[in-house]
Amino acid sequence: MLLLLLARAGRGAPADLRYVDLHEELSRLLREFGPPRGRLQTELPFWHLQSEGVWVVRDADRIPLRTSGSNPPRSALVTRDATGYVPPRYWAAIERDAELRAELLQRILSEFWPPTLHEAIRQALDLSLPELRARETVTRARRDNSFRDLVLETCGARCAVCSYDGRLAGDPLALDAAHVMWHCEGGPDAPDNGLALCSFHHTALDRGAIGISESQRVRVSPHVSGEQTDEWLRRFDGRPLGRSPGAPPLHPRFVRWHAREVYRG
Ligand SMILES: [Zn+2]
Repeated sequence: MLLLLLARAGRGAPADLRYVDLHEELSRLLREFGPPRGRLQTELPFWHLQSEGVWVVRDADRIPLRTSGSNPPRSALVTRDATGYVPPRYWAAIERDAELRAELLQRILSEFWPPTLHEAIRQALDLSLPELRARETVTRARRDNSFRDLVLETCGARCAVCSYDGRLAGDPLALDAAHVMWHCEGGPDAPDNGLALCSFHHTALDRGAIGISESQRVRVSPHVSGEQTDEWLRRFDGRPLGRSPGAPPLHPRFVRWHAREVYRG
């Protein structure tokens, strides 16, 4: 919801945003990048962003909307033509200042999604990338390197799904250390939360196209489709994850988190 507001401000959209006008775009974004829930509840982010103090929802008569329950039904937002606005001093700032929008974008992306998804989310919203601050980049690189070495070792420097082990001049090529429970959600840099994955299967894991069963086998989402998906995804369904002998299994807590919050079952 915040990213959608940033994108709208960048496009010079009006400061008052009607629920019925946001619903479709918000649905698409939730379906693609939100947690795998049954019904898409666009009314929840539209309503609950108010608790952050940067968003006010009013009815058609411009009176702050009140509802009886803590979660308003969608029908209430539609029939009363709920319209939200960012307080003018904030809206003016993000509308005017592309650097501020970029900084907020980077913070929100880092806080809520793993880096494999950032580019796709930015493109879906047509938001441009900020300059990363040098200090953050260094800290992040240092952290990533030690985690990567550890995880590649526990998986024998092969993709745990497809066994890809490509190297370029001796160094692993397009082989990542993936967090099962995302780092931005509190998942630790630990071997029982890490899998070596080729770049493709890393993205597939973070998007929920593949998951992990309780018996530590690969699961492939039934929602995957496309002519080449047998070759790239489906044939690995049910296969045990590739890990070095003696490597710790993935912690069940992280596996359950991924199944609940990411996997498109
Ligand atoms: Zn792979």
